[in-house]
Parts: sequence; structure tokens; C-alpha cells
Amino acid sequence: MFIEPHSNQEKTGWIELVCGSMFSGKTEELIRRLKRATIANQSVGIFKPRMDVRYDDSKIVSHNESKINAIPVDHSNEIASRAASFSVIGIDEAQFFDEEIIGVCEVLANQGKRVIIAGLDMDYTGKPFGPMPQLLAISNYVTKLHAVCMKCGGVASYSYRTSTSHDQVVLGEKDHYEARCRNCFTL
Ligand code: ADP
Ligand code: MG
Repeated sequence: MFIEPHSNQEKTGWIELVCGSMFSGKTEELIRRLKRATIANQSVGIFKPRMDVRYDDSKIVSHNESKINAIPVDHSNEIASRAASFSVIGIDEAQFFDEEIIGVCEVLANQGKRVIIAGLDMDYTGKPFGPMPQLLAISNYVTKLHAVCMKCGGVASYSYRTSTSHDQVVLGEKDHYEARCRNCFTL
């Protein structure tokens, strides 16, 4: 389990990244860390891409139904411009953001903020997704989570698309995707 560095021990900011396949618990883990920061009386600002409207316009919601309020934004520079009053920044679905999210996270961390960012490391073809490879590289702490393979019960790292579209982005849940291990993903 990830234990937050205590803010008195780290004078500077830092970036934590939580990645993995769909259903691996990224949003659950992001919400857990953000709720703990709130309990510690830290000012927490949470952002999500406006295009992700699967559950709620202004909340981040996990598959096990924990939720937390979030500000929907169209572009990563909106996060930078709205972050001033927060010491902890949470960002979900980072794979859907533009490439500028990488510089935005670095600037926020350099300003002394704790940045916690969650996203899909791979798309439905098993390729790195959007800005995630660079975010993985620049993060100070990386957590890779795994789901349960829906075919064999093994350790799932992949998001297998069960529908026929070939677009990289198809918003959906169990209607379009299932978590799969390497073997069952390549069947
Ligand atoms: P993510 O953000 O990575 O898509 P969530 O945090 O929203 O994941 O959801 C994680 C929860 O999803 C788990 O706690 C569990 O209740 C549920 N879940 C549904 N299908 C699976 C699966 N195949 N493997 C693991 N958890 C699953
Ligand atoms: Mg999620």
C-alpha cells in the first residue's frame, strides 16, 4: 500500500502516478489518497477530462461506487490556471488529456504541490495510451495496479475490447471492455 510522504519531510512537491488496465482500481486508489489528504486538512483540487461523462459530469466515480467531486476541464492548461489555491492536485483519466499535461504536472510539482494522477497505461490494442508513457517517466512514485482477468481469473494488465470499433477512444465499461491477462488478451 502506498504511504504518503509526510509534507513536513518533503519540502518540494512531487508527482505520484497510478496506472493499470480498466477495472484495476485506479480511481478507487486515487479517491483513497485524496480522501486521506482531505482528512489531513490539506486543500485538494480534483480534475477530470470533460469528455469523460460515463458516470457523472462533476464527480469521479469508481466501479465500486466510491466517489468524490471533481472539476471537469477541456484542456490541461485549465488545471494549471485553477490549481493555485490547492496543495494537493488529483487528476483522473490522464490518458485522455493532451500532451501538455506532462508540463502542467511538472510545473505544479515544482510549485510544491503533491500531484496524484491516474490513467490507463495501455489502450485496447495494448499500446501506450496518450501522454501516459511520459507521465510514467517523470513521476516520482509509480503504482501499477492489476485487475482480475475476466476469462481465467488470472492477473490482468490489459483492457480487451469486446465490441468491434477500431477507434482508440470508445467510452464504455463492461458493455465494451473486459480486463484480461496477457494470455487471454492475445487469444
Ligand atoms: P479503474 O479506475 O482502474 O477502472 P475502479 O477503481 O473504478 O477501476 O474500480 C475497481 C473496482 O472494480 C474493484 O474494486 C472491483 O469492485 C471492481 N471490478 C469489476 N471488475 C473487476 C475486475 N475484472 N478486476 C478487478 N476489479 C473489478
Ligand atoms: Mg477509473
